[in-house]
Amino acid sequence: LLGGKGANLAEMASLDLPVPPAFTITTEACNRYLNEERQLWPELVAEIEQHLEGIEEKTGRRLGDPENPLLVSVRSGAKFSMPGMMDTILNLGINDDTVAGLARLTGDERFTLDSQRRFIDLFSRVVLQIPGDAFEEVLDKWRRKEAVATDAELSLSALREVVAEYRQIAEEKSGERFPTDARDQMKRAITAVFSSWNNPRAIAYRNHEGVPHDLGTAANVQAMVFGNAGEDSATGVAFTRDPATGERRLYGEYLPNAQGEDIVAGIRTPKTVENLQQEMPVLYDELAAIAQRLEQHFRDAQDIEFTIERKKLYMLQTRSAKRTAAAAVRMAVEMVGEGLINRRDAIERVSADDINKLVVPVFKDEAKAVAVSEKRMIGKGLNASPGAASGLLVFDSDEADARAKSGQAVILAREETSADDIHGIFAARGVLTARGGMTSHAAVVTRGLGKPAVVGWSEAHIDVRKKVLSVNGTTVHEGDPVSIDGATGEVFTGEIETFVRRPEQISGFGELLAWADGERKLGVRTNADSPEDARRAVEFGAEGIGLCRTEHMFFAPDRVERIKGLLQNAEAFASLQGRVESLEAELAAVPSGGRAEIEKRLHIAHIEFESHAEVRAYRKALAEMEEFQCDDFAGLLRVLEGRPLTIRLLDAPAHEFGLHEANPMLGHRGSRLGITHPGVYEMQMRAIVRASVEVKREGVEVHPEVMVPLIGHVNEMRGLRARLVKVTAQTLAELGAPGLIEFKIGTMIEVPRAALTAAAIAPEVSFFSFGSNDLTQMTFGFSRDDTGRFLPTYLEQEILPADPFVTLDVDGVGRLIRLATDEGRKANPDLKVGICGEHGGDAASVLFCQDAGLDYVSCSPYRVPGARLAAAQAALSTGGRRDV
Ligand code: PEP
Ligand code: MG
Repeated sequence: LLGGKGANLAEMASLDLPVPPAFTITTEACNRYLNEERQLWPELVAEIEQHLEGIEEKTGRRLGDPENPLLVSVRSGAKFSMPGMMDTILNLGINDDTVAGLARLTGDERFTLDSQRRFIDLFSRVVLQIPGDAFEEVLDKWRRKEAVATDAELSLSALREVVAEYRQIAEEKSGERFPTDARDQMKRAITAVFSSWNNPRAIAYRNHEGVPHDLGTAANVQAMVFGNAGEDSATGVAFTRDPATGERRLYGEYLPNAQGEDIVAGIRTPKTVENLQQEMPVLYDELAAIAQRLEQHFRDAQDIEFTIERKKLYMLQTRSAKRTAAAAVRMAVEMVGEGLINRRDAIERVSADDINKLVVPVFKDEAKAVAVSEKRMIGKGLNASPGAASGLLVFDSDEADARAKSGQAVILAREETSADDIHGIFAARGVLTARGGMTSHAAVVTRGLGKPAVVGWSEAHIDVRKKVLSVNGTTVHEGDPVSIDGATGEVFTGEIETFVRRPEQISGFGELLAWADGERKLGVRTNADSPEDARRAVEFGAEGIGLCRTEHMFFAPDRVERIKGLLQNAEAFASLQGRVESLEAELAAVPSGGRAEIEKRLHIAHIEFESHAEVRAYRKALAEMEEFQCDDFAGLLRVLEGRPLTIRLLDAPAHEFGLHEANPMLGHRGSRLGITHPGVYEMQMRAIVRASVEVKREGVEVHPEVMVPLIGHVNEMRGLRARLVKVTAQTLAELGAPGLIEFKIGTMIEVPRAALTAAAIAPEVSFFSFGSNDLTQMTFGFSRDDTGRFLPTYLEQEILPADPFVTLDVDGVGRLIRLATDEGRKANPDLKVGICGEHGGDAASVLFCQDAGLDYVSCSPYRVPGARLAAAQAALSTGGRRDV
């Protein structure tokens, strides 16, 4: 009801912290205004008046009183923080009647005039909807006229002119007299703040962050305190812990003689709080003590806004601090150590997305060394948000968005960013700005998104109109590749290859995930096809491979031709073999008298078959592939050291190998290929058996699980299973190893019919693994390959709540999964059930999988840590704990 800002102001006030008096108008009132009234209704106006009088009483000043004027701010503040997306008005209550009184009261005409011009500027932008450039131009003009660098240096007479010109612009552009009545100004400010809930950037932000659109914003009306009241005044932002690293220390910035908007806009470069410690030690100590108190109270790191007005400290805001993924983990783990929270809190505090971000890319050492030796490093800005990225430089957010949509990686460069750049920031791989500090818009937004950013790179000249960046004699144009490292602040020309950190290099990572493992019920496996991927996944905590896509083992250039040849020659092989087989059948059916003729034809068919070039090519390709596969599987088994290895038999959609088929995703792939060309699966099965025996004989435990893809009917499974069992027995016998190893045989459930007939299929297999990618494709009838043309519209129009290929569609696809799991288990109580579609790494889908009773999820290596955490959060959310 109070929104984050309002609730926490109230909380701080109840802790007796120095908060300027305020009242909050609820989100409920906002919604009533937006949806029903469209104006402030009499009861609300009366309440506002009553609470305003409360502020007047506490401060001893009155809004609009020429002798003793009160100024207030009117600020937005929703349940979820939406930094900079909605509107705020400061210095309300200043007009020609009060300006003289205020100057007298403060003894500072400069400050008064400065406040007045800020108010006209903000009120014009927010309430009168006048674009801000015109005001900027006036200030610029006067700075040039007086040859000064900052607004603070303008002469009094210049400031007076600025105020007059501002008002003139406002009146010209709005076509109305600038409102003078303070109470009227306040009401208009409140409705503007309410309306800003629905401005386009706020809507875009909510769409991206998944924040509901019907929450509304609260409006906070608060007595102003002034950080711009002279050199003994300041405004600042501080974090109780370092938001980039998580280190426990007061961290922040402030600007002397300035208002809050200056620090966020990044117009002047702020000082660090360490400076405050030297310059105003008493206030620093007070701030540090309050920071500590807030952390204890909220049991979380806080992001606080403060103002010093003539040596008196005021707290204007506190909220849970946004932090990098690395900081989130470190803070959570250290807070457990400090006794501030418990382990379960820690698990719940870090999101699966965050933990996955931790393994973000950094530059490869060698690649960076080359870039350095080639003198491609062109400078260094502030290291605002970690991660390394390369891309083509663009200077405009629309351009960034358009290029990203056409598949280009881009780096967005701006002088500074504002909320209007949000789509460009979303689209870019990384962000670069010339101005602004560590708490500027660009820094805060990218940190939240887990995107690299280098900000406040003041030596660089970023000319967004000419689309060039120039620095130390180098110029970079739009479309040129650049690389940035948001962890060091370095900027390079050209591309630099990146890689990802090892888990043990990340503070708190191991502990947090170990705690998570103690809580979760679901197993976590990985989808990996190479020993390197498998090794990385095991380092990330994977308990085995849940999906090895064997067709991926043939993407290497020297192999892809073989598999193409195999698939092409398979047809000829099958038809010639078919002839032999039908003659054999004919022969078996006739009485011994009439066989000579058939025997002769069979003999010829045999010879033709054996000598046919395509048959030979097919067999050669199969034999070569068997050797490759044997090595591939042995490599994986060695890395896994006894963890299960689920090998999915070949499922090669024709188009992935450059072959043509009308509907490749619904075509001759998976078990269909296995049935028409049994040699392929037989070859793979032999390779699996040979590799398993080889590795087991080296003394390494092996647990191979063989998985048949794209089953829709139990008879597909029955026939294939019989062949696989036969080949297994034969190969084991040939190797002198009968009974040495158990080979589990299971199936993917990825065709809706398979899910619906799970009871028939389950007795034929040891396990089910939901191929939720195909199951989603076939349940919706959306092709996996080209949903891009309509799915964005579906999401925009909220026809679907989320992309069903990312977050499992619980109601439809999920229903099939539940049904297949339940009926499968009824028919085969020993059935193991997992999921290996992309959903296995998505936190919401993981929660569903636990609820549906699955045994494990399997996802790509980088998502394994997130899946472990999500599985623990799922377990905690249902109060359960793994039975160990
Ligand atoms: C699936 O369909 O979910 C699956 C894991 O298989 P693939 O993505 O290889 O079709
Ligand atoms: Mg599939």
